[in-house]
Amino acid sequence: MNYNLTVLGCGSATPTSKRNPTAQLLKMQERFFLIDCGEGTQQQLRIAKTKFSRINHIFISHLHGDHFFGLPGLISSFHLLNRTTPLNIYGPPELKTWLDTTFKVSNTKLVYPLHFHPTQNKEKSLIFEDKKVEIYSFPLKHSIATTGFLFQEKEKERNIIKEKITEYGIEVCDIQNIKNGKDWISPKGKHINNRELTTDPKPSLSYAYCSDTAYLKSLKENLDSPTLLYHESTFLKDDEKRATKTKHSTSEQAAIIAKDVKAKSLLLGHYSVRYDDKEVFKEEASPIFKSVFLAEDLLEFKVSHNSITSRDLNK
Ligand SMILES: [Zn+2]
Ligand SMILES: [Zn+2]
Repeated sequence: MNYNLTVLGCGSATPTSKRNPTAQLLKMQERFFLIDCGEGTQQQLRIAKTKFSRINHIFISHLHGDHFFGLPGLISSFHLLNRTTPLNIYGPPELKTWLDTTFKVSNTKLVYPLHFHPTQNKEKSLIFEDKKVEIYSFPLKHSIATTGFLFQEKEKERNIIKEKITEYGIEVCDIQNIKNGKDWISPKGKHINNRELTTDPKPSLSYAYCSDTAYLKSLKENLDSPTLLYHESTFLKDDEKRATKTKHSTSEQAAIIAKDVKAKSLLLGHYSVRYDDKEVFKEEASPIFKSVFLAEDLLEFKVSHNSITSRDLNK
């Protein structure tokens, strides 16, 4: 099993001809989650051939323009496309005020329900949960209230060994309990341990998204072994003073965090416009953390437990 992550924008601050501001689309367990929504996000979604109607949840990390100025446009397009499904937006409380004002002054009465879920950046909290996925927000350290997001597949069912069903004559009605990890008791009262009837489930995957943040040592209290960690790397070590001042991170610091939280792989992004060649970020991070990937506009990553591959959606 795998999940797909499409980078829609990997730049910071202002859009350039090569880099859109931050937005990512995560497809996990058939669910589409849009993470941040910088200017131009809807055009990038179009190029990535994303069905707009599949997006029911949008997560905004903080209220710097490069992370949410694309939102009213996208919400408005959903409206013009006569969407009927509710849209859920998770973000800082002030985002609701801003959206309400925008739609009030433009005299827009949305044709679909918009549910707003305010986030807080004091402690880790569960903000979404369904049968297969749970999502947490957790505090980051930036010049304005900012949260990261952790997307986590729930523990999967155990795999039943087919031969054992025949061997013991297990009834269909007992199978779900066995898949859930319960032992089985035969009609004659014989106790069979679950381990004898099943094999371990596929590992649950996770994606941790750390948008704008200064180096934050305490992240390891909230993140434990994510399959993939996205961590901003706005600057290189040479510009560490600037990173500290603007509450951003260097590539080296992102690599240290990846090691600290025991991530399997690290994805870098949110590059400052001063760096034309993004390979320098990988060069700086690689000696500290071995599995490093670089975000790039319209690059789609396929993430499984054992591997990460990517393809360019521009091609
Ligand atoms: Zn930013
Ligand atoms: Zn920011």
